[in-house]
Amino acid sequence: MITPEPMPTSPSATSSSSATSSPSPTSSPSPTSSPSPASSPSTTATIDPSAAVTTTSTTAATTSANEKSATAEVVVIGGGAAGLAASIVLARSLRSVIVVDAGSPRNAASAHAHNVLGNEGINPRDLIADGRREAERYGVGFIDSTVESAGRLDEGDDSDFLIETAAGHRVSARRVIIATGLTDELPDIPGLVEGWGSTVLHCPYCHGYEVRGQNIGIIGTTAMSYHQAMMFSQLSDRVTFLRHNAPEPDETQRRMLVSLDIAYVDAAVEAVERTGAGTVVTLRDNEARTTLRDNQAGITLRDNEAGTVLRNNEHGTTPHSNRAGTDSAPSNLTFDALAVGPYFRANGEVFEQLGGTVVAHPTGMGTSIPAEANGATAVPGVWAVGNSADISAMVVASAASGVMVGAQVNAELIMSSVS
Ligand SMILES: Cc1cc2nc3c(=O)[nH]c(=O)nc-3n(C[C@H](O)[C@H](O)[C@H](O)COP(=O)(O)OP(=O)(O)OC[C@H]3O[C@@H](n4cnc5c(N)ncnc54)[C@H](O)[C@@H]3O)c2cc1C
Repeated sequence: MITPEPMPTSPSATSSSSATSSPSPTSSPSPTSSPSPASSPSTTATIDPSAAVTTTSTTAATTSANEKSATAEVVVIGGGAAGLAASIVLARSLRSVIVVDAGSPRNAASAHAHNVLGNEGINPRDLIADGRREAERYGVGFIDSTVESAGRLDEGDDSDFLIETAAGHRVSARRVIIATGLTDELPDIPGLVEGWGSTVLHCPYCHGYEVRGQNIGIIGTTAMSYHQAMMFSQLSDRVTFLRHNAPEPDETQRRMLVSLDIAYVDAAVEAVERTGAGTVVTLRDNEARTTLRDNQAGITLRDNEAGTVLRNNEHGTTPHSNRAGTDSAPSNLTFDALAVGPYFRANGEVFEQLGGTVVAHPTGMGTSIPAEANGATAVPGVWAVGNSADISAMVVASAASGVMVGAQVNAELIMSSVS
């Protein structure tokens, strides 16, 4: 009879700071209670206080006397949702795995992660800490550092890899999984980054519910920003599109703005400031483009000599103050929340050191590591998961890709030993 395997109930995970005092994950759970990670394979915890690193290696992984060198079957670079999920499925297949993690998950700026089934609203760092504990219980080793260089030990596509960290660790491995995520590059607007993840948002599914019904400003960065405005309009009837760097709306986008009752301001944003009244957006001094006016009848887009003109309705995007000498053109608008489309730049340096090429995303919204559906990249032995390969993957999708790719890597390692 097959019984579901319970999660091992080991004591809290060893972390960099508590490793010396916490019981090792190898000490529990009781091997008699279930086929536990502690019983197969046996693990050895090694601690390097000088580098504040805990590495826990399986029987197949080895660490040298100075604990700066390690060998594993698979090294996972990045310990976010994707990398952790990949490491667990591999360790549960009795693979030796080391995760090297710089410790900056993309959503760390937010207090809550949503659409995380079974963990709705969890703090992102708590989610990662939980995932790491689960991985450690299966014998996954961790190095808290940044991978600075990566390459092959020898010539040839079947050579093992050597990874070196900023803290001086050297990890050799047969396979590499890149789980480094992406970097959100915000437009260079003073004050914007300070609100990132709380009052400056990007994803209607991550945070939209929390600002439902509020007065939301969309700062345009690309043509996709019109799509973003459309998505937020499902959550509030007070959405204003501030064109900023986005192209002028085409006919479809104009129709969308009008149909969905989205106010439109053809102006660039100069600065953003959080005040007690909300987030104040200062518009750039550009009279030709700053054309917000009242219109009791609702939004109308029309042409005049200055080009596309916004007709604002009673959305609450009332000019905060009007500059003298510019007629009714506003200099400031106040919103409850802002949404912006960052440039999603894949953290692809390690991939490129390994011989890969990061490519532009077809939408123009960022870059990504090109990978097949199973995570394989064009570089033999190198796989990519999560946001590094898919700019749209949310937490659960990133974890799902980690599980899927981890399973693929395990199968590929089995096949590689078939003569
Ligand atoms: C503000 C914000 C809020 C979000 N909220 C939600 C939400 O509510 N729900 C949701 O589903 N999604 C949310 N997301 C998306 C979510 O953050 C991503 O889906 C998820 O983080 C992707 O997981 P990942 O493992 O691919 O990358 P990450 O979580 O970014 O993890 C990558 C890890 O790799 C490490 N790393 C990078 N380079 C190196 C290197 N060279 N060496 C070693 N380590 C390295 C990083 O430090 C990091 O720890 C949000 C995103 C943002 C920006």
